[in-house]
Amino acid sequence: MAKQLRLDVAQLTDVGRRREHNEDNMAYVIPKDPQVMATKGSLFIVADGMGGHAAGEVASEIAVDTVSTAYYQDDSDEVPVALVRAIKRANAAIHQRAAENMLRNGMGTTCVAAVLRGNMAYIANVGDSRAYLIRGKTVKQISQDHSWVAEQVRAGLLTEDQARTHAQRNVITRSLGTQPDVEIDIFTEPLQEGDSLVLCTDGLSGLITEDELQDIVNRFVPQESVYHLVERANENGGPDNITAIVIRVNEVGVEPPPRQRRPVAVGGPEEDTAILETSLASSAGQAGTRYGNGHSGTFSFSARAVPTLADAAPLAAPAFPVSKRRRRGRIFFLNVALLTVVLLALVVGAVYYLVLRQGPDPDQVLAQATTLINRATGELSSDPVRALQDLASAQQSLRSLQGVSLSDAQRTQLASLQRSLTSHAEAALTAYNKRFGITSLPCSNTGVSPINTGSIATRARSLAILQQKGKALLYALGEDSQLYPLMQVNRQYSLQNHLNLDGKVLGVASANDGSQLYLLLARTSQSQGAASVSYELAALQAGQTKAKTVPIDTALTSNGQVPSLIAAWDGDVYVVFSSKQAPNSAQIVDFDRTKLTAKQAPLPISANVVSIAAFPNNQLFLLLGDGSVQSLQYTSGKAQEPVPVPVQVQRPIPSALPVSDQGFTAATPVPTVTVPAQQGPVPLLASNKATLSAGLVNHIPHLYVADSAAHRLLAFTPLGGGSAGGTSDSNSILVQLTGQYTSPGLFASLRSAQPDPSSGTLLYTLAQNTASLLNVVAVDTSSSGSCA
Ligand code: CA
Repeated sequence: MAKQLRLDVAQLTDVGRRREHNEDNMAYVIPKDPQVMATKGSLFIVADGMGGHAAGEVASEIAVDTVSTAYYQDDSDEVPVALVRAIKRANAAIHQRAAENMLRNGMGTTCVAAVLRGNMAYIANVGDSRAYLIRGKTVKQISQDHSWVAEQVRAGLLTEDQARTHAQRNVITRSLGTQPDVEIDIFTEPLQEGDSLVLCTDGLSGLITEDELQDIVNRFVPQESVYHLVERANENGGPDNITAIVIRVNEVGVEPPPRQRRPVAVGGPEEDTAILETSLASSAGQAGTRYGNGHSGTFSFSARAVPTLADAAPLAAPAFPVSKRRRRGRIFFLNVALLTVVLLALVVGAVYYLVLRQGPDPDQVLAQATTLINRATGELSSDPVRALQDLASAQQSLRSLQGVSLSDAQRTQLASLQRSLTSHAEAALTAYNKRFGITSLPCSNTGVSPINTGSIATRARSLAILQQKGKALLYALGEDSQLYPLMQVNRQYSLQNHLNLDGKVLGVASANDGSQLYLLLARTSQSQGAASVSYELAALQAGQTKAKTVPIDTALTSNGQVPSLIAAWDGDVYVVFSSKQAPNSAQIVDFDRTKLTAKQAPLPISANVVSIAAFPNNQLFLLLGDGSVQSLQYTSGKAQEPVPVPVQVQRPIPSALPVSDQGFTAATPVPTVTVPAQQGPVPLLASNKATLSAGLVNHIPHLYVADSAAHRLLAFTPLGGGSAGGTSDSNSILVQLTGQYTSPGLFASLRSAQPDPSSGTLLYTLAQNTASLLNVVAVDTSSSGSCA
């Protein structure tokens, strides 16, 4: 069987941190029909709207809807031709809508669209949204910005860095909808397996470097990459709406055979194209079409004229000069026959275009949507992934009826289908989450308590928990390195007076039984005019305000490493010593929980340890700077020092659906997911902003990964290897996912998670919501209330 183009795709849009509305839009179409896939390929589009009174949202939505519909309706199999026509149709539709409404005067949008077919990518661009190709470590910006600063850079008047921060950086010089006609750039790129393509708005490209882009896209699957990209832009201020589509090319296909193609191909090394370039030269001027050869396989193509049928003729006419390749001996008659066929095709095409291309046939669209929704009904419980895909297709067809005049009966049917679509989408989301063990917070039993910082000018950085008489006492480590008891009054916590610990708190760990907290303290003292820092390990019992402190042996810090991370289980308290100067080496020391003195010699580790969690039987989990989670069997002083081994998850972690906490509404695009083909164990990865923690839940030790970038909390139990009953020489530790708690809204930033030792089933998290408010979110792991 011929190789087929296989893609893994994810898309995400986010309002950002400063804007009230999201004026970005995005969409993609991967045709189910293999024939359509072979001739038209898959389409991806991102648009960034502008204009007051919600006009920007309208413009970008029309662009996305019109292009994704019109491209597949276009009867040309030549991607650049069909794509340019589809974008011009969108331009006309936006321009007309603006003319109809004074308030929308001047509305417009950028548009970057990609069609992937066979082994080629075709990129069309208007404005300053971008397309990047990532191949290995190299990043190439395929599209050229139509912005004032980009023109200054091309003219050598500004540097890239100056452009990035220039006051005029938002001024674009070309857009869809602001003029009756528009000039569109087309670029082509041959694809290779493993390539990634990113389409994004300037809310992402202006806030992230190409290195960061490459790093994130290569490190994660697309479903996770989009979250990380959006998160990174938000961390850098999120001044604008942020949108990204990430497409991973798993396998390239072959371009359809030339006989299926009308000979107006642009770019590509094919033989017929070379001939056509020359033959097109004459008609190009006439059709207002300019071809310019880019470098390294990039072909720039700008079409100025509206491709009405009148233009289609000179574009299609060069079909005839294909006969240049005929042998001289061929008789003239054959040429006439060929001409007749071409003319006939043009006439049929014209009639088809005029009669059928006036817009979608409402009855046909309604019937198609009905079929898709009915099919989704049958798939709800058996295959929620497919059900979501069908519902997304149904939604897309219904959207194509926007602006189309309908009869009363059609309007009634449309409204009823939209209601049915909404309720089915809700059911499919629930079924998907249930099937894949995803809890979409908040649930009816989720406790969300804001933290009122009152007069204290600090924010909580992490949580720790003590247990007293069966009740949980919460503590927060502040960003000022002080430990605060959290007082709860009326479902609201407040930070009040911090404990007087006579030093800075560098880290805090809860005992797994809740009996005490372990603290790392740094104390600065003056002796003979010079400041010196000494370190202490402290233990604080429930109900006490004074901690027991023991100095840390100065031999442990004599090499410049200082205590940075702490974790505890039963009789052991583990402290990681590291230095900023040499981040890739650390040592871990095991202290006695009662005496607070080192039990064994330090264990050196050649890794950048970002977070640590302790388990029974001297097993440690480490999150490293490269995002990998590793396990370490702690014994020191042996002839063979133990080294960390990778942690593997039994099967790939299912993607959470990008639905807001407000749930699904008619205006929400139906989210779709691609289920990874691989089913076996995969390495456990997180962002380096994640934190690990561990504790007993339902009497079983659990590992928690609070992954801020992915807005989720993952719960795992070990399956084998290490101390959990496996062989000691195993090269990895296998864990299984027992729960996934997600919330784009509540977990906009997830700072820490800690199981409650007194209840045995509650998990406390410290999280910042999308409004930048800090909450203590209590998640009940035992019962599933009704969730978002
Ligand atoms: Ca923008």
